[in-house]
Amino acid sequence: MNLHPNEVEALVQKTARDFTDRVLMPIAAQIDREEAIPRSVLKQLADLGLMAVRLPSEYGGAGASTVAYALAMQQIARGCASTAVTMAVNNMVGEVIATFGREEQKQKYCTRLASGEYCAGAFALSEPGAGSDPGGMRTTATREGDGWVIQGEKQWITNGAFAGIFVVWARTAGKEALPGAKGITCFLVEAGTPGFTVGRAEDKMGLRGSNTTSLQFDRCRVPNSAILGEINSGFKIAMMALDGGRIGVSAQAIGIARASLEESIRYAKDRQQFGSPIATFQAIQWKLADMRTELDAAHLLCMRAATLKDARKPFSSEASMSKVFSSEAAVRICNEAVQIHGGYGYTREFAAERHLRDVRVTMIYEGTSEIQRMVIARSMLA
Ligand SMILES: Cc1cc2nc3c(=O)[nH]c(=O)nc-3n(C[C@H](O)[C@H](O)[C@H](O)COP(=O)(O)OP(=O)(O)OC[C@H]3O[C@@H](n4cnc5c(N)ncnc54)[C@H](O)[C@@H]3O)c2cc1C
Repeated sequence: MNLHPNEVEALVQKTARDFTDRVLMPIAAQIDREEAIPRSVLKQLADLGLMAVRLPSEYGGAGASTVAYALAMQQIARGCASTAVTMAVNNMVGEVIATFGREEQKQKYCTRLASGEYCAGAFALSEPGAGSDPGGMRTTATREGDGWVIQGEKQWITNGAFAGIFVVWARTAGKEALPGAKGITCFLVEAGTPGFTVGRAEDKMGLRGSNTTSLQFDRCRVPNSAILGEINSGFKIAMMALDGGRIGVSAQAIGIARASLEESIRYAKDRQQFGSPIATFQAIQWKLADMRTELDAAHLLCMRAATLKDARKPFSSEASMSKVFSSEAAVRICNEAVQIHGGYGYTREFAAERHLRDVRVTMIYEGTSEIQRMVIARSMLA
């Protein structure tokens, strides 16, 4: 594994870092408070190529590597975690369409996701009764005439309120005919399709600037051309997308934790108790040393998974290791950051409390820590 990004990767990273320092950092607390990301921010991300880092340039993307994407994601999450998850889902949707879509689907949707013509894309897999076990989904798509009728409900869908295109999974064969996850197909559903409505936004602990909604499909009719990939082969698409997505979540966690560490160092040097900066106390120094060590370990795991994906080698287990370690380390780091800030860390005056609220979900979405451990164990025991 090369520990130094190549020229393009370093440029993508710098572009994201500059955007974070100049645009996101000054408004992150406002985004959290007002529970919305200004549309202009999403458009600027698109203009910088950060909404479609991995998409080939012919579809308007940056045509960069997974390493570049992970480095950019770390930087954006360092500035604003809500913006980072919005960007992450957009990138994931673009990549899934670019990988499995037909040429006309790529021309139509990837270009709009990359350019910002669509505010964002959405990835609609989870349901009220099917989260860790998406193979248990109940949403159905039934063939009617020359199209399909989708019926059911999705839950926890990031970007639901403003996405232009939704990747939606539905059961296309009865469980008796194709048991387990085999009878599931992936559809591309455009916002505003009759029969498709978006529910209210969830009132979340963190990532409050990011939009998370339910989706309802009530006899929502889509044409045959809305199918992404092959009929009854959609589950494989979801699992492959999630493997890549887990590198992105790992990078989000690292970015949030890096912001926490940077702020902790600044605060520890500034805050005086017993006549000295608290940074002179060994108890605080050891916390900082542990935070930095865990952060670097998380970064190395993230880079390993991204490098394997770029090399087209198996990376599923490594992506899970990266996600479970980074997210759990990041939660510990953000928690220690609150401790270093003392009582002030528990107030909205400092970002430490926001980071702790924001980072917690990285242990839950795109597969909980428990599910990541199952993936890792399965690969060892197979
Ligand atoms: C803010 C947010 C944004 C999200 N965005 C999206 C999105 O854009 N698209 C999307 O499709 N989904 C999204 N999700 C859904 C997310 O992926 C699910 O919440 C997650 O997969 C867990 O599913 P669940 O919430 O139903 O929990 P459950 O599956 O009910 O799990 C509850 C608990 O049981 C544990 N558990 C379950 N099964 C096992 C097992 N076999 N062994 C051991 N432990 C187990 C879990 O680890 C967890 O601790 C989002 C969620 C959140 C909170």
